[in-house]
Amino acid sequence: MSTPEEADVLVVGGGPAGLATAVACRRRGLEVLVADRSAPPIDKPCGEGLMPDGVRALAELGVTLPPDAGRPFRGIRYVGDGVSVRADFPEVRGLAVRRPRLHAALVDRARELGVRFAWRTPVRGLTARGVATDGGELTGRWLVGADGLHSRVRRWSGLDAASRRPARFGVRRHYRMPPWSDDVEVHWADRCEAYVWGAAADEVGVAMLWSGEKAGFDALLARFPGLEARLAGTPRISRDRGAGPFDQRVRSPCAGRVALVGDAAGYRDAITGEGLALAFHQALALARCLAGGDLRPYPRAVRRLTRRPYLFIRLLLAAEARPAARRRMLRALAASPELFARLLAIHGGERPLSTLGWSGAWRLARGLAAPPPR
Ligand SMILES: Cc1cc2nc3c(=O)[nH]c(=O)nc-3n(C[C@H](O)[C@H](O)[C@H](O)COP(=O)(O)OP(=O)(O)OC[C@H]3O[C@@H](n4cnc5c(N)ncnc54)[C@H](O)[C@@H]3O)c2cc1C
Repeated sequence: MSTPEEADVLVVGGGPAGLATAVACRRRGLEVLVADRSAPPIDKPCGEGLMPDGVRALAELGVTLPPDAGRPFRGIRYVGDGVSVRADFPEVRGLAVRRPRLHAALVDRARELGVRFAWRTPVRGLTARGVATDGGELTGRWLVGADGLHSRVRRWSGLDAASRRPARFGVRRHYRMPPWSDDVEVHWADRCEAYVWGAAADEVGVAMLWSGEKAGFDALLARFPGLEARLAGTPRISRDRGAGPFDQRVRSPCAGRVALVGDAAGYRDAITGEGLALAFHQALALARCLAGGDLRPYPRAVRRLTRRPYLFIRLLLAAEARPAARRRMLRALAASPELFARLLAIHGGERPLSTLGWSGAWRLARGLAAPPPR
């Protein structure tokens, strides 16, 4: 860390949410100090897919990735129960990017703007003026908790609330092989989903999300025999990394001079793959509030930003929890790829929810209610 003086904004956690907040605050003229227990480039279990509105938010933050840092994806393909259905995003492509590469680009942008860093600095607790670390106190006028799913800043600030869903977990792995698709594939099985994406010209990432007890990657992969056969014998290029339980709630995303952002501000599930997009949009909203010296509009901004993602998460988790409902959902989408495309456009933030329309909602509801074929 370069200088000890108080920052305007002290950010605990230099992951995507903390760095995006730092960038957005610096662009508004605030002095920012970021403390993280690790050092860049930081990896993390993630499906590594940026939805189109996440790609847009990254551009709004002025973050540019080297051309070969990631791999665009055109849309999403659902596979399962004998069905395969896909749809394109209407305008902007999604972007799959390995977490260390995304992290490096965010750090570069923050550094360029003059953000100060305290890497390898675990934060141990809150103090009256900031936070306690092994090297002494760090102080800031505002304190931002961007310390992830199991945020301690959230707990220390009394902002934790009880989770309300059965436990869900995730684990990811990378393979050395050329991607076989320009989509992110989502394979569905009973209480388990496998996400597959091309992370570079010779890298394929696979993330498992599941409900129930903790489990290992290979046991989960065995639930998808087709995928398991395709990956058999392929060299692994990353260590398996897991996360969960996912459902983490907050009483409020801020209190006094403390604000939470990213996963720390509450998380539901990775099933829709938009934690990063949400974190970037929250960071932009939070910076507006901090620059105005008033956190009161922030909870409403967070509610507005989470409304659509949380709706999709609720719908997909309802299907995930009931195999019959999942089968009906997949069949309904396969019977109406145009409906899937409309849902994807809304999910990717490219169209408002209203474009689903009554006809779309009716077709979806009818498909979900249809009895299974004999
Ligand atoms: C399996 C899986 C798949 C996912 N797939 C996708 C996807 O495809 N697309 C997508 O957009 N999102 C996905 N997500 C969600 C996404 O990974 C998160 O939403 C995103 O990482 C949130 O960023 P963050 O900065 O809030 O938290 P993190 O990335 O967890 O960063 C938190 C930072 O805080 C630091 N920290 C924590 N505690 C302390 C402390 N006490 N002191 C100092 N530093 C501390 C950590 O070192 C870390 O750098 C997925 C998640 C999982 C688990």
